[in-house]
Amino acid sequence: GEEMAAEAKEERILVSVRLRPLNGREAGDSSDWECISPTTIMFRSTVPERAMFPTAYTYDRVFGPSCSTRQVYEEGVKEVALSVVSGINSSIFAYGQTSSGKTYTMTGITEYSMLDIYDYIHKHPEREFILKFSAIEIYNEAVRDLLSHDSTPLRLLDDPEKGTTVERLTEETLRDYNHLRDLLTVCEAQRQIGETALNETSSRSHQILRLNFVDLAGSERASQTASAGMRLKEGSHINRSLLTLGKVVRQLSKGRNGHIPYRDSKLTRILQSSLGGNARTAIICTMSPAHTHIEQSRNTLLFATCAK
Ligand code: ADP
Ligand code: MG
Repeated sequence: GEEMAAEAKEERILVSVRLRPLNGREAGDSSDWECISPTTIMFRSTVPERAMFPTAYTYDRVFGPSCSTRQVYEEGVKEVALSVVSGINSSIFAYGQTSSGKTYTMTGITEYSMLDIYDYIHKHPEREFILKFSAIEIYNEAVRDLLSHDSTPLRLLDDPEKGTTVERLTEETLRDYNHLRDLLTVCEAQRQIGETALNETSSRSHQILRLNFVDLAGSERASQTASAGMRLKEGSHINRSLLTLGKVVRQLSKGRNGHIPYRDSKLTRILQSSLGGNARTAIICTMSPAHTHIEQSRNTLLFATCAK
C-alpha cells in the first residue's frame, strides 16, 4: 500500500544539479552561480557589461560547492539506487560538460550505493540475492567489454525476454564488496582515455556499470564537435548517443506517451529496460562554477529542466 503509493508518486525522473568548487585551473575566475536554497540555483552575471538577467532554476535538489558526494548520494540518488533490491530496474546518470565533475560524482555514488545494497542484503538474510556485475564502454557507438582484454566491439542482440542484450559480455557474480572494488579497478584500467583542451583525464566515452551507473561522455559534444579530423568522427557519434538520450528523457518526462526513440543509439538501446516503464531514474547534472564555462553550464541546466 504505502510502498506502492510512494513508487507511483516517484515515477518521474529525479533531477539534481551539482555545482562543484572552482578548481586550480579556474582560480581567479569569477562565478555567476549561487545555490540559494536546497532546490534553487541562481544565475547572476558577474560581468555587468554583458547585462544578462538574473535567473533562478529549480530542481528536485541542488548541491553547492561545499556539499559532499555523500550528501548528493543521500538526498539525490539513494532512493533510486536502493529500488533495485525491490526488483526495480534503475539508472543513475551523471550529465555535464567535460571537467564538470561527472566521474568524481559517479565514483562516490557507485561506492555508497553498493555499500547500502550490501548492508540491505546483510540485514535480510531471509532473502536471496545474486549480484551480477558487468561493465561496458560505448565509444564511437562501438560497445566494448571493460572486464575483458579483448577490445573487439560487441554486438547488441534483441532477446524476446530480456530485451536488448550485449553479446558475449562478461558477467561476474559478486562475492562481496571487495570483489566489486577489484572489478572497478580492472574497468578503470581498461577505459579509453582521451585528451582534450579542457581536461587531460576527461573521457569521450560513456561508461555503464550494470545496475546502471552511467558516466556519460562530456555534454559539450551534444552541442558542438571538437576540433578536427579524428575528433570530428568521435564528436558526431557521441552526439548520437547523447542527443538520443536527451530525446528519450524529454519524452519520458512528458509522461511516456508517443514514440520514445530508444532504438536510435546504442546507449538508449542498452538502457531501454532501465529507463521508463517500471524503472527509476536519477540524473545528476554537474557544472563548473567558472564564468569561462557559462555557455556549457546554461546548456546543462537546459537539459536538466527538460528532464524534470
Ligand atoms: P568529468 O568526469 O565531468 O570530466 P571529473 O569528475 O574528472 O570531471 O572532475 C574534474 C576535476 O575536478 C577532477 O580533478 C575532480 O577531482 C575535480 N572535482 C570534480 N568535482 C569536484 C567536487 N565536487 N569537489 C572537488 N573536486 C571536484
Ligand atoms: Mg569523466
